[in-house]
Amino acid sequence: MSPLGHYITALGLGLSGAATIGGEYYWEHGHLRILTDTVRWIGDSFAVGQSHRTPYAAIGFFFAFGAIFGARAPDLLERPFLAFVRMVRVIGYRALAHTPWFWTVLSLPVAWLALQPAANDPAMLVFLWVAIGFLAAAWLHLAVDFFSVGGIPWLKPRGTTIGVSVYENGSVSELLLIVPLLAMQFAVPYFIQHPYQF
Ligand SMILES: [Zn+2]
Repeated sequence: MSPLGHYITALGLGLSGAATIGGEYYWEHGHLRILTDTVRWIGDSFAVGQSHRTPYAAIGFFFAFGAIFGARAPDLLERPFLAFVRMVRVIGYRALAHTPWFWTVLSLPVAWLALQPAANDPAMLVFLWVAIGFLAAAWLHLAVDFFSVGGIPWLKPRGTTIGVSVYENGSVSELLLIVPLLAMQFAVPYFIQHPYQF
């Protein structure tokens, strides 16, 4: 998918995640309140040393923040500007950073951290939810590329690819995926919050 397409779908994921995490609070107060509440939570937690607020607003914000950075991570990790790090330059479009196992390896330590008791410490909470947003967007990137002509490498970088050819990269046909995806991202938190209102 084109860079813009990746950013649009990742932003959708971020906002959808924030709305799901924020739950009732989010639907009552909206995005702007989440922003100011996050700033207040950061102030309370790091300057005052204690916050009595439920950090849902902040968690949702950090998740969305991470998602923006994860939007193009699989592509950027394979760009030549990282060539000076020989180890990273495994390269070629849709190589190592487009394999599902690469992101599985990165996701496992974060999942493990999230289950530790220290996961509620303010600094850890910020790191964790930015990381979770980042990883979620990277997984979405893989899923989105999976639906493009060419697909993604299954096991070996640049090896056999898997995928469903729904759209062609960089063409209007990307909308065939973007539109239903955005609709889904909007619908999920809405129906979680309003389960009986169809
Ligand atoms: Zn890609």
